[in-house]
Amino acid sequence: MTEQASRCILITGAGSGIGAGIAAELARAGHHVVVTDVAAAPTDAVAASILASGGSAEARVLDVTSDASVSACLGAVSRPIEVLINNAGLQHVAALEDFPMEKWDFLVQVMLVGVARLTRAVLPGMRTRGFGRIVNLGSIHSLVASPYKSAYVAAKHGLLGLSKVVALETAGTDITINTICPTYVKTPLVDKQIADQARTRGISEAAVVSEVMLKPMPKGVFIEFDELAGIAAFLMSHAARNITGHTIDVDGGWTIQ
Ligand code: NAD
Repeated sequence: MTEQASRCILITGAGSGIGAGIAAELARAGHHVVVTDVAAAPTDAVAASILASGGSAEARVLDVTSDASVSACLGAVSRPIEVLINNAGLQHVAALEDFPMEKWDFLVQVMLVGVARLTRAVLPGMRTRGFGRIVNLGSIHSLVASPYKSAYVAAKHGLLGLSKVVALETAGTDITINTICPTYVKTPLVDKQIADQARTRGISEAAVVSEVMLKPMPKGVFIEFDELAGIAAFLMSHAARNITGHTIDVDGGWTIQ
C-alpha cells in the first residue's frame, strides 16, 4: 500500500456544513485545501481556522453558476488543482405545483450545471498532469426520491449520469470521478429543511427528524463529516484508481431494504 501524497484539493460550497467539515479533515490529513464559496467571509473564516491549526489552506470566492467566477477563481489559486470536490448545494422543499420555477432552475444550475461547468474547467489541467480525482457530493436523493424535493432529486439523479459520462471520457487517464451519496448530515441545510418539512407536512420538527429523516435508515443516525472526508481520501488514493463513475452509498442500509 502506497502512502497518500499531499494533494491540492478545491472544495466548492466550503464556507459551511459538509464542505467546511471535509476541508478541516483533509487539511488535518496534510493536504492543501482551496476553500471556496459564494461569499468571502465564510471561506476566510474556514481557511483561517485551518491555518490556525497548522494546516495549509487558501480562501477563494467561487460561484459555480458563473463562468466568470470559475475562471477568476482558477486563475487565482496558488497551485494546480489535483482534486475537485463538487459540494456546493442547496435545498428547497415544496410540492411541484407550488415550486417556483426560478427556484427549480437555480437548484439545477448549482448542483448539476455548476458541477459540469467546474469539472470541464479543471479537466484540461488534470489531463496535462496525468492525475485527477473528482469527488461529488450526491445524496441518498441521487438514488431514491422523497416528496416535495423535485428539483433536488432531479439534480442529484442527473449528477450520476453526468459522472458516468465523464468517467468514460477520462477512462484513458489516471482521472476518476465518483459520487458520495449520504443520508442526512446535521448542517445548516438540514436544519432549515427540518423547519420547512414540518411546515409542509404539518408535523413537529422532532417528528420530521425521527419519522421522515432517520426512520428509513436502519442505522438511524446522522452521518458525520469525518466519515465523508475518509471516503473522499480513499477515492483520492492510488488504491481507488479503477473506481470511477460509481456511487459510494453512505446510507446506513436505506437502499438495501
Ligand atoms: P450547507 O447549506 O451547509 O452548505 C452548502 C454551501 O453551498 C453553502 O455554503 C452555500 O453558500 C454553497 N453554495 C450555494 N450555492 C452556491 C453556488 N452557486 N456556488 C458556490 N457555492 C454555493 O449544506 P450542506 O448540508 O453542507 O450540503 C453540502 C452538499 O452536501 C450539498 O451538495 C448537499 O446537497 C449535499 N448533501 C447534504 C446532506 C445533508 O444532510 N446535509 C445530505 C446529502 C447530501
